[in-house]
Amino acid sequence: KLHNIAQELRGNIRVFCRIRPRSSREVSDGLDEGQLELSPDGCGVTLCSAKMRSVDGLNEHSNQYKFTFDKVFAPNAAQAVVFEEIAQLVQSALDGYRVAIFAYGQTGSGKTYTMEGPDNYASEEQWQQSKGMIPRAVDLIFTTVQTLQRRGWSFKVEASFIEIYNETVRDLLASDKDEGGGVVPDIKIDGKGVVVVSNIKTVPVTAPHQVHQLLIQAHGNRATAETRCNARSSRSHSVFQLRILGEDASQGNASVGGLLSLIDLAGSERVEKSQVTGDRLRETQSINRSLSALGDVICALGEKRPPTPMGGRGGASGKGSSGVGHVPYRNSKLTMLLKDSLGGDSKTLMFVNVSPLAMHLNETLNSLRFAAKVN
Ligand code: ADP
Ligand code: MG
Repeated sequence: KLHNIAQELRGNIRVFCRIRPRSSREVSDGLDEGQLELSPDGCGVTLCSAKMRSVDGLNEHSNQYKFTFDKVFAPNAAQAVVFEEIAQLVQSALDGYRVAIFAYGQTGSGKTYTMEGPDNYASEEQWQQSKGMIPRAVDLIFTTVQTLQRRGWSFKVEASFIEIYNETVRDLLASDKDEGGGVVPDIKIDGKGVVVVSNIKTVPVTAPHQVHQLLIQAHGNRATAETRCNARSSRSHSVFQLRILGEDASQGNASVGGLLSLIDLAGSERVEKSQVTGDRLRETQSINRSLSALGDVICALGEKRPPTPMGGRGGASGKGSSGVGHVPYRNSKLTMLLKDSLGGDSKTLMFVNVSPLAMHLNETLNSLRFAAKVN
């Protein structure tokens, strides 16, 4: 291993909660906030439901729900501050780890802002300040690669970017020409439990700006699909992956292969099934199924392992190894794709993004509950 990664991070699933600020529009519209309180240690968040009058009309009471995460970011937390907390995790992909970073939350809670950055920005300087985890991760990977190259390592970095919508896979880096060729991307698990990914483009990259170009291209591809299907992007998962292969000629060709996945999940909001029909219903069911499939997989992996002879929690490594019962990877394309990036020796981080608005209280509570379950 090139760097020493704290043993305690191994196989752990960490959860960070991030509360977005109110937009200036929301402020001028007078939308209420003030329902979420952070604890001083930066790890707790308490949600207070609005005061409700009890039946006799005499007592006011409010419900409080307290949640503890690995970190809670206040609305004013800058992207750079958030990234600082995940930088080490990102770098471990260069040590050969499989790292998966998710953004979970209702539509409008800040998932895409966290992962990619703001939807528009006035200047290059503003972009540098507000860019999200994907561009920052890419910058860090390339900076580290350069340092390691000077020490005799050589690296190959490849990117892919896909969208999973209604359990169908779309390659966001494919050009119209590729699509016209009738190649349909797909993800399967074969009889031996091996993940088989077909017709998904991987693009070799040698500098951060190339990856930025790919993000812009993917953005364009998503926007085109959006006009054909309204608000499609909020109902699909997008998965950005960097595959990293390193070789050290000076050490008898020691090699490492890491994978970094950054996933912007479909909006987690519950849609009343009674209110939608046809395609829209199928879509809603498919989102709910794949998000709960993800939750089920993470929960199955997090299930307490039986005590080992050594009595510790360490030691258990290797894919889907000892003590973990059946893990239901096959229930969605997303969990199939990420099978080898969840559990075993891999590292997982989930952002739970929440809105600060009082009107979103119920969805915020749902999101925090989901996140607390996987933590
Ligand atoms: P989602 O992807 O969860 O639907 P977005 O990331 O698109 O949500 O966020 C909704 C809006 O709020 C966007 O205009 C986004 O730029 C803005 N926003 C989200 N989080 C922040 C933040 N931490 N700071 C400033 N603006 C934010
Ligand atoms: Mg989004």
